[in-house]
Amino acid sequence: MSSLRFKSIDNLSTQSQEKVAGSSKITAIFNENVFTLKTAREFLSDEAYKSLLHSIKGGKKIDRVVANQISAGLRQWAEAKGVTHFTHWFQPLTGTAAEKHDSFFTLKSDGTPIEEFDGAALIQQEPDASSFPSGGLRATFEARGYTGWDPSSPIFIMEIGSGKTLCIPTIFVSYTGESLDYKAPLLKALASLEKSAVDVCHYFDKNVNKVTATLGWEQEYFVIDEGFFNARPDLLMSGRTVFGHSPAKGQQLEDHYFGSIPERIYAFMRDFETEGYKLGIPLRTRHNEVAPAQFECAPIFEEVSVGVDHNLLLMDIMDRVARRHKLRVLLHEKPFAGINGNGKHNNWSMSTDTGVNLLAPGKTPKTNLMFLTFFVNTIKAVHDYSDILRASIASAGNDFRLGANEAPPAIISVFIGQYLTKVLGDVKERVGSKFDEQDEAILKLDLHKSIPELLLDNTDRNRTSPFAFTGNKFEFRAVGSAANCANAMTALNTILAETLSTFKKDVDALIDKGEKKEIAIMHVIREYIVASEKVLFEGDGYSEEWHHEAERRGLPNVRTTPLALDAMVTDKAKKLFEDNGVYSHTELEARHEIELEKYIKKVQIEARIMGELVTSHILPPSIKYQNTLIQNIKGMKEIGLKEESYANQKQILVKISEHISKISELVEKMIEARKVANAITNTRTKAIAYNAQVKEPFFDAIRYHADKLELLVDDKEWVLPKYREMLFLR
Ligand code: ADP
Ligand code: MG
Repeated sequence: MSSLRFKSIDNLSTQSQEKVAGSSKITAIFNENVFTLKTAREFLSDEAYKSLLHSIKGGKKIDRVVANQISAGLRQWAEAKGVTHFTHWFQPLTGTAAEKHDSFFTLKSDGTPIEEFDGAALIQQEPDASSFPSGGLRATFEARGYTGWDPSSPIFIMEIGSGKTLCIPTIFVSYTGESLDYKAPLLKALASLEKSAVDVCHYFDKNVNKVTATLGWEQEYFVIDEGFFNARPDLLMSGRTVFGHSPAKGQQLEDHYFGSIPERIYAFMRDFETEGYKLGIPLRTRHNEVAPAQFECAPIFEEVSVGVDHNLLLMDIMDRVARRHKLRVLLHEKPFAGINGNGKHNNWSMSTDTGVNLLAPGKTPKTNLMFLTFFVNTIKAVHDYSDILRASIASAGNDFRLGANEAPPAIISVFIGQYLTKVLGDVKERVGSKFDEQDEAILKLDLHKSIPELLLDNTDRNRTSPFAFTGNKFEFRAVGSAANCANAMTALNTILAETLSTFKKDVDALIDKGEKKEIAIMHVIREYIVASEKVLFEGDGYSEEWHHEAERRGLPNVRTTPLALDAMVTDKAKKLFEDNGVYSHTELEARHEIELEKYIKKVQIEARIMGELVTSHILPPSIKYQNTLIQNIKGMKEIGLKEESYANQKQILVKISEHISKISELVEKMIEARKVANAITNTRTKAIAYNAQVKEPFFDAIRYHADKLELLVDDKEWVLPKYREMLFLR
């Protein structure tokens, strides 16, 4: 029987391509499956529509009577589209979205079948919370949890095959109110930011009533043939290849980036984009990425909370659509060693209801100062809370990437480009005790015109920065590709909310002392520049020098998740999140516990799959080939040939035998180390042990021997699909 590996290679040439319907205009399908305000206008009474609108725009509560009207309108809309079930769609701390479907269908007390969807079912549900991570919250509080409708995020219909489900975006909380998901804290962080940002905006424009944080994510991913995926238990179990020798050709020719998209992948892309458009995901960009078989997509930016939902939805859609095409999409941060991994850049800014992007350089002195205010506050926030940002992106998968030399390092720094560095330098030098004409001159600089040009020159350099200013937004580049953006966005928006509210106090204090408003603002900006300068870095973030330099500057460089997560539970973090109404202390402790547990489980699974694969996939072909060589040598000896005629075979045999014995020994030792780690009861200590005693000493060492065996053993005996096949055959 030929192995799955060769079957998959054979299948590739006979495979027919999944048909994708010809493209129609995107506007014709965009939002087709979304209960937009326009749809709501059609299906709801005036009263219900207004109530929904107020709830979306102003966070007003919807009462039960109106909820009944809304749910009736929703059902009417959904049924007209063939929907039979509804679900509360939520974002538990597992990382993927969760749903539990209920039908509209029910029986009346006399047994009459009817279709029904009442306001109560729209507003609140009680999923069985006990199988979702809670970090001990449920033990201490209350066993049940409930999902509550979040009207700020649009309701949509998910199509799976020919089945259609009405999905109601919800938050997930325990009965005592602790959040058990990613969404509730995010909404709280956004509310806190809105308040602080509006207050600060009022220095410049009293007409600002609302500030919305915006998010435009760029999602990187790999796509490989399903046959290869199925023949790789490591991909199936852990999302990454734990073994595999680098192919002769990797990404060194740089021929993949922005190259033409292979036809089979192109069909897949068009297909998932179509699904995305129907759900209102405003996808805009698609291209090949740097590594072979790697791609990227990005939408037009949206409000952060909607952007977060859309990213999570799309990850799910991509996975499902890929299967339809007999492909698999790999969202792991580092599916393949030796070539680039996946990132998810989070482009982020803030905009006002008066239509101003607060991180876009201004055209007038007044708007310049407003820009500088938000710009410098962001730098200060990242400086003051870099540990919290680092913690927000920590995961077992991201540990493989941060600091590998294709991704931003684990050191959080900010890139702003030459021109703004100069502007900040000028502000810092010039604003003395008395504000003078020169300072006014700074404000009159035409930032708007100068910045974009200058940034263009620098785009290459800022690729190495984890947090880069890119002309009218910051790009948080260190977010994990498989992560829910909500975690990073909660941290970022909270630290900014905090910094802006301190800024307001600092400026007000100067104004109270009789300082003119603009001068007070300039003074505080100057102070903030001085205080946060050390987080600014324009050079190559991948370089060894930067690591030394960062150390000299006292910037933290926490390379592993178990230690990075410490920042979640410091007094500083507790105060920050409590003051901004985002997390209580207990919630933070619980989350810390959950993230540590996730880490432990991921490393545990990888360690297990490594051991298993060595025994079942690496050793058998190696031993078989070892025997072949032994037979060959024996035979040559028997017929009286001299030793030099089989020296080569003997050399290979010796090498193979060495690798076999080393790898077996290492696997045994790793299993022992795992047992020791498993016996540790404290979660943090256990996570640290899993990194320091299991992963670090064994993963690379075991892999080294497995990959050597792959090179030595007869290709036709090798069981696991090789890198060259997974990456280049499609
Ligand atoms: P690049 O490819 O150079 O990083 P793009 O202009 O293509 O830059 O933008 C990348 C992402 O940034 C897109 O998703 C885009 O919508 C998003 N973006 C642009 N402006 C903003 C903004 N003001 N706030 C948040 N995201 C933004
Ligand atoms: Mg970008």
